[in-house]
Amino acid sequence: MQNQDQEHESFVKEQGYFLQEESNIDNQDIDLSLVSLRIALKAYFSTYQCFKGLLSNVKSTKDIRDIYTFEKQRTSYHEEYAKCIFHFHHFAELVLIKLLSINGQDIFKHSTDNKIPDEWKQTIAFNVSLKTLVDYIESKPQNYQHLEFVLNNKEMLKRLNLLRNKVWHRGLYILYYEKLDEFIGKDVLPFIVSVTEHQAYASYTKWKYKKLACEIDPITEIINQFKYQSYNMEKVAFIKELGRAAYNNPLLEIHNPLWKAESLKGHFIYQKTEHENKALFLYQNNNESKICKCPVCDANSLLIYKDADYELDENGEIENLSFYPYMIKCECCSFELHTDIENASKYEIKEIIDYWV
Ligand SMILES: [Zn+2]
Repeated sequence: MQNQDQEHESFVKEQGYFLQEESNIDNQDIDLSLVSLRIALKAYFSTYQCFKGLLSNVKSTKDIRDIYTFEKQRTSYHEEYAKCIFHFHHFAELVLIKLLSINGQDIFKHSTDNKIPDEWKQTIAFNVSLKTLVDYIESKPQNYQHLEFVLNNKEMLKRLNLLRNKVWHRGLYILYYEKLDEFIGKDVLPFIVSVTEHQAYASYTKWKYKKLACEIDPITEIINQFKYQSYNMEKVAFIKELGRAAYNNPLLEIHNPLWKAESLKGHFIYQKTEHENKALFLYQNNNESKICKCPVCDANSLLIYKDADYELDENGEIENLSFYPYMIKCECCSFELHTDIENASKYEIKEIIDYWV
């Protein structure tokens, strides 16, 4: 038994590597909370893709359990939902522990058992961390103001913990598509902005998606939707898809300081041209399609696909032939919309052209 335990121990220690052992100067994955944040945001932004083209069905039934015919879409939504809740929770939990530790607070100070190993401390109950931190802030220690955002988000954090427990312990409980939008857009994203602007996290940037060519920032835009406007499911889906594609953008970042290096510039042009050529090939093989610049990655690789509409006369000949756009897809970053989402101008998104014309 002891031999087996030693084998497990050596497997864990010798068959992988610790991130902090890497010498790469750009290594920001060292903070696990930010790895979780990235996974959670990607999952949330992907929830439109689960129902792409069928969003009106989600809206009309108000209950995705009723859409029995869309089993594949529902399964995909359940997966993204679980990832989203679980990783936002993990992010928040590690943030609470970090904020406690940088303020010299030990969540185990009242514990009678002083033999708790360090690695167990990472699995401490979310509620204990939250309560300890809230008590600490409410005692108004010196310079407590930088932690006040935790008090403002206390109820959201409790709700996130409840949702996570329902995912993890009591069978998979799923929020309706619209309710997830509301919870993330109204409550969770503002908390993320507060955390990532806090001095303990401000120097980290790798959790975020690459800048979009159209200069829309999906997180800011979704927060604004819930802050200043009434919820529009399709508009939020449009913005989520911009965010998902931005994470998927394979091109080197134009605004990256390393951009000055000529060798990288050459690589960027090679990458971009490769995707544009792929799009050009598809364009040449799809009748009546159109090709244009992508608002996410800036490559000339966004295809507007069109389908034919016609009638047959008494001799079986085609008449009144016309073509209508039904889908756009970028061959570089994978930005993809269907006609369940209306033109950008309908949602007053001025930075993006209308595709359904
Ligand atoms: Zn693109």
